[in-house]
Amino acid sequence: MGKRARILLIYTGGTIGMVKDYETGALKAFNFDQLLQRIPELNQIDCEINSVSFEKPIDSSNMNPAYWVNIATIIEEGYNEHDGFVVLHGSDTMSYTASALSFMLEHLAKPVILTGSQLPIGDLRTDAKENLITAIQIASLWQDGEPLIQEVSLYFEYKLYRGNRTIKMNAEHFEAFTSPNYPPLMESGVHLKAQSSFLYRPKSKRKIKVHKQLDRNVAVLKIFPGITKSLFEAIIHTDGLRVLILETYGAGNAMTDDWFIKVLKNAKKLGLHIINVTQCAGGGVVMGQYETSESLKQLQLISGKDITTESAIAKAMYLLGQNVDKDLFKSIFETPIRGEMSQN
Ligand code: ASP
Repeated sequence: MGKRARILLIYTGGTIGMVKDYETGALKAFNFDQLLQRIPELNQIDCEINSVSFEKPIDSSNMNPAYWVNIATIIEEGYNEHDGFVVLHGSDTMSYTASALSFMLEHLAKPVILTGSQLPIGDLRTDAKENLITAIQIASLWQDGEPLIQEVSLYFEYKLYRGNRTIKMNAEHFEAFTSPNYPPLMESGVHLKAQSSFLYRPKSKRKIKVHKQLDRNVAVLKIFPGITKSLFEAIIHTDGLRVLILETYGAGNAMTDDWFIKVLKNAKKLGLHIINVTQCAGGGVVMGQYETSESLKQLQLISGKDITTESAIAKAMYLLGQNVDKDLFKSIFETPIRGEMSQN
């Protein structure tokens, strides 16, 4: 690049910057300046780091679409002055935020890397320093005159993933995230190695467009043996509901009971978009592969293919917010728009 990269560090909260409350012993967020003081190594990285913090850092369990808009706005306002963005975020909902930002930031052509840690930065055994320092280094990388990473990604425990493909899979291990249906974009060992063919590239080089309309009228229902009709009915009659994401078994299978099919027909009559995603961490929905998904196919349920539930929620909120034509919703949902699902 020839000049030092300018990175904007956005602190939203999370374990990375938490300390123990003296009275309760519970972890709570602390102030950003204190966080920076604990990582003098940041001064040694060969880039210019500007930082901005949520006024009140949060545990990411309190994350919501209004905060997503805050983060997207910070990126929008700092876009021209910076070469990359690192978002410090709690791990609990990091995959949701990464998914949401991927849809909100259309024509993104710079790195947005979310990271955090399982142990606070002040802990002797912390994983925070490596995660943060490497995320900043990756955000500074250039290749052939352009940023190496041009998508919303997530860095944790030596791996960089496409953000909207990740799930949090472990509350104990430092390796807290995985991306079951898409390979890591980069691995950090002695060298930082990128898998060039897996990197997302925006389809056209246009000015970034930040979408801030998200519609929260989305529900997720995980089916289980013994689930009742009344639960289904209560959910489909929820005031204002527009999208029902159904977490089904295996390759998109569900019970074949008459009452279940009737409830789904009713839901469709009520105007709900019903999306079929799998409960399995890996693989995806193939309606019609088994008899137990035949009627779902006939009912024209939307196939979530190999999308994660986290990403399905974010995509649904985004498409509803875009006021996508009702008749086009199915075909648009089934088409990858930010690399969040496989083509077929
Ligand atoms: N509860 C924390 C959060 O998501 C966990 C973490 O940061 O790892 O904010």
